[in-house]
Amino acid sequence: MDFSSGSSASLYTRKVPFVLGGLPLEFGLAKEHRLLRQMVAEFADGKVAPKAHEYDEAEEFPKDLVEMMYGLGLMGMMVPEAYGGGGMDTIGYCIAMEEINRADASLGTIMSVNNSLVCDPILRYGTEEQKEELLPKLAQDGWLGAYALTEPWSGSDAGAMRSTARLGGDEWVLNGQKIFVTNAWHSQIIISYAKTDPKAPRSKGITAFIIPTDTPGLHKIRKEKKMGIRATDTTALAFEECRIPKENLLGKVDEGFKVALSTLDGGRIGIASQALGIARAAYEASLQYAQEREQFGQTIGQFQAIQWKLADMATEVDAARLLIYSAAYVRDSGRRYTKEAAIAKLFASDLAVRASREAVQIYGGYGYLRDFPVERLYRDAKITEIYEGTSEIQRVVIARQLLREDR
Ligand SMILES: Cc1cc2nc3c(=O)[nH]c(=O)nc-3n(C[C@H](O)[C@H](O)[C@H](O)COP(=O)(O)OP(=O)(O)OC[C@H]3O[C@@H](n4cnc5c(N)ncnc54)[C@H](O)[C@@H]3O)c2cc1C
Repeated sequence: MDFSSGSSASLYTRKVPFVLGGLPLEFGLAKEHRLLRQMVAEFADGKVAPKAHEYDEAEEFPKDLVEMMYGLGLMGMMVPEAYGGGGMDTIGYCIAMEEINRADASLGTIMSVNNSLVCDPILRYGTEEQKEELLPKLAQDGWLGAYALTEPWSGSDAGAMRSTARLGGDEWVLNGQKIFVTNAWHSQIIISYAKTDPKAPRSKGITAFIIPTDTPGLHKIRKEKKMGIRATDTTALAFEECRIPKENLLGKVDEGFKVALSTLDGGRIGIASQALGIARAAYEASLQYAQEREQFGQTIGQFQAIQWKLADMATEVDAARLLIYSAAYVRDSGRRYTKEAAIAKLFASDLAVRASREAVQIYGGYGYLRDFPVERLYRDAKITEIYEGTSEIQRVVIARQLLREDR
């Protein structure tokens, strides 16, 4: 596959060789994982990186790149081939997420929602009819999905949602509001959650639904203006007597909270990989700049202060990757991976913010300019500490699992 044509030489194209040139941390990975990394890296460098700045500046959804991602099998990577997907394991998904996100975290966000938050719960909780109908469209035919859990009054405390769904004949009738819904502006379906038993306490009595976005009564209210991942849409939605067929349930009635939380476990491994990609991009840009920029008659890489920053970044990038692979391995082994996913996300997202901040510092004044890539990395990194559970919530999740395991 040749992605070199059309790649304008720019600051946004990686110029240093892979940090992972020899891939010392890829021991034990299958040949298909290495080939996958190579394929996605070529796409990321040749097609994605040259446009990332442009899409970010314009705050524009990267339609052409998303279309190419379907062609490369990156939008439903873990969906079995029988349903039109890539049939990859979680480690393969993490590798692809790292590569895409080091080029453009907006594209990585769009990819992660479709893979982790939409295809995955349909695969795990959907009926055979739902899988046969929806997964091929989502994995290969250009359908985009969204995941709407958050409401104006319930974020971390998702169980406090107020949206409702009641049965009216052969239909569910939804009312309520959802905010911060990634991909919703461009999506064909939304997986959303509503209270089906208003008397049930907190997270009980919640049901998951699959809602086509052309359903009357589903309103796309507005796109939010954001600090980072500006080429993604973050949409506020309202349900107003929105009627969907009775069979559009995902999983069982009143058991939707389990769908929501288990989906986020998988999503967190994806966001950890996104954070790793951002951190690696920050490190690679810093390493290159440190060897080019001269002050006081020598490259700034000769100063120990800069060397230590680079050494810390390289160490932590490798550590984050190992945590992510460990979580992915536990998931692929069919065991519960709630703790491992939260640990990987907590560490990697913290690293993404730290490494991108240090990258801006290494670039000095130039790092503060929008013409240089590290400025975007710093803005994009922050979201990884917030969505799919804030860092505070990751600590809550980890501690809860630790105390459970000790019993
Ligand atoms: C760009 C973007 C995209 C998003 N995409 C989606 C999406 O596609 N779908 C979706 O459903 N949601 C999405 N979200 C929402 C996101 O998941 C929430 O913003 C996040 O879960 C935090 O919720 P909140 O914003 O209401 O903050 P709050 O829950 O109000 O938290 C505020 C602060 O209090 C802290 N806090 C809260 N509870 C605790 C606690 N128990 N212990 C310690 N600290 C606590 C938090 O960590 C945070 O620092 C997105 C958000 C953004 C910004």
